[in-house]
Amino acid sequence: MRCVIVGAGMSGLLAARSLERAGWETVVLDKGRGVGGRMATRRVGDGVFDHGAQFFTARGDEFKKLVEEWTGAGAAVEWSRGFADADGERPSDGHPRYRGASGMTSIPKHLAEGLDVRAGERAVHVLRSGTGWEVRCESGLSEYGDALLLTAPVPQSLALVGGIVPTYKREDLRRISYDPCVALMALLDGSANLPEPGGVQIKGEPLDWISDNERKGVSEAPAITIHAGPKWSRTHFGDSDDETTAALLELAGEALGKNVASKVVGTSVARWRYSWVTENHTERYFVGVESPPLVFAGDAFGSPKVEGASLSGLAAAEWLGAAHAESG
Ligand SMILES: Cc1cc2nc3c(=O)[nH]c(=O)nc-3n(C[C@H](O)[C@H](O)[C@H](O)COP(=O)(O)OP(=O)(O)OC[C@H]3O[C@@H](n4cnc5c(N)ncnc54)[C@H](O)[C@@H]3O)c2cc1C
Repeated sequence: MRCVIVGAGMSGLLAARSLERAGWETVVLDKGRGVGGRMATRRVGDGVFDHGAQFFTARGDEFKKLVEEWTGAGAAVEWSRGFADADGERPSDGHPRYRGASGMTSIPKHLAEGLDVRAGERAVHVLRSGTGWEVRCESGLSEYGDALLLTAPVPQSLALVGGIVPTYKREDLRRISYDPCVALMALLDGSANLPEPGGVQIKGEPLDWISDNERKGVSEAPAITIHAGPKWSRTHFGDSDDETTAALLELAGEALGKNVASKVVGTSVARWRYSWVTENHTERYFVGVESPPLVFAGDAFGSPKVEGASLSGLAAAEWLGAAHAESG
């Protein structure tokens, strides 16, 4: 059995590993330059920035086991037990917050080892082929599978298989929604002096989060990531890089009570159209077509965030394995 997986984020990579362990052949296609999706790390000058997911928690035992494996392999480390809020208070609820060892992408890179992952391949068309599925990429590459697993944010997955999935199922999937997030990475020529442990969790508007990637332990140079809140991000999503940079540096200065802009020596803007899930589907995966199997997974299914995405990928793989066993 061969499965084509679209998306090399946490859900796609964990599904691929699980299917491979069960004897399947898999190929993972991703339009990005590397693996990880929203677990994203970028270099700007001498600075290293996590600009998507900043950290993750592990609430359930199933995910705790995975995290143990990643920490054991040196791909993940504990960052802290809580972050300062907008007033500088640092509540600790005792839950470890984890990060990738050299940036959030350390974990997907670890998961991708030994897998057939084709980065830089944007899937643009899906069609039935024989008893399975064919996925065509912009580059001209075509991949065939007995099963298809779609793990991109749901509107992107639906754009690929719109006409294939029955209308009533498409309607269910269209209810899923996400907030956007505009992120600014700013390389500084001096320390940002953020409170320990280097992250301020504002959780609001206009800013949601500010982190110091140097203090976080992933950058050798002072490098801050600023995340705008969902409302600000939606309003300013189409602003130019210059406008976004000026506005977010000013807001960060206000939030931190210091002039951040005067220390900036390099910047980069990232725009996440789909960052956090605001309306999810309660099950961990969604079967779009029973046979040949076409399944949706990702952080919109079951619980959200890194933990939810991971568990969704595993659950989808388990369903595919069971469906195959039944049909055989
Ligand atoms: C700014 C931001 C901050 C966040 N902060 C946190 C946090 O602190 N803690 C936390 O737990 N979670 C956080 N999250 C959420 C977390 O990153 C996600 O829930 C999780 O990484 C989703 O994984 P996934 O595999 O479901 O999707 P993704 O990581 O989005 O993976 C999907 C992949 O599909 C690929 N793709 C899409 N379309 C195509 C196509 N047509 N062809 C080929 N490939 C395609 C994409 O390139 C992507 O790599 C944050 C997210 C963002 C954006």
